[in-house]
Amino acid sequence: MDTAWAVRWVRAAADAVAEHRAELVDLDRAIGDGDHGENMDRGFTAVREKLDDEFTGPGAVLKMVAMTLMSKVGGAAGPLYGTAFLRAATSLGDDDASAEAVAAMLAAARDGVVSRGKAEVGDATMVDAWTPAVDAAVQAASSGASPADVLTAAADAAQTGAESTDALQARKGRASYLGERSIGHRDPGAVSTVLLLRAAASAAS
Ligand code: ADP
Ligand code: MG
Ligand code: MG
Repeated sequence: MDTAWAVRWVRAAADAVAEHRAELVDLDRAIGDGDHGENMDRGFTAVREKLDDEFTGPGAVLKMVAMTLMSKVGGAAGPLYGTAFLRAATSLGDDDASAEAVAAMLAAARDGVVSRGKAEVGDATMVDAWTPAVDAAVQAASSGASPADVLTAAADAAQTGAESTDALQARKGRASYLGERSIGHRDPGAVSTVLLLRAAASAAS
């Protein structure tokens, strides 16, 4: 996992966010203020414009993403994803990364989201996608999977985790204002987390 992978990841993430912008808007309209797709697309459009810069390694790419998302995304998701990418950048560093390092990078990103937003698994937030993703990635890495397979395992587990938010009452973020009426809706940030992890996996294979 090197600089070229990180650039491919981020470009694929920007493509996925643009492609799913309306879906993220609709999900957020149901239980929030309907801006998650716009927020993410604005952020990743700004990120895309910086992808032709020179980077000293994969960590430098992710650090650029962090800084750009923090300044452009706004709302709850901006600082959450900004922190996730910043911690991921620090964890990954600028060396070519092993499967274990990729799993550790995802754990660092998740820990960043949790330290920033204080949500637990079951609160119907992006943490419900991130945490099973990290668990699956750590497990895959410890059983000798390749970095690409670690990322695929993470994305698959994130998808299942995002689906699990359908049945949950939101306890953090704007959706929590709805109380029980948030049950029956998928969390938009959990869905965007799946898009980002799927993009990381596709860039690795
Ligand atoms: P806003 O709610 O400010 O409009 P967005 O719509 O861009 O921000 O992002 C909403 C998403 O942010 C939610 O779907 C949820 O996944 C995530 N989120 C909100 N609050 C928290 C939190 N405290 N911890 C983790 N994730 C959160
Ligand atoms: Mg919103
Ligand atoms: Mg908003």
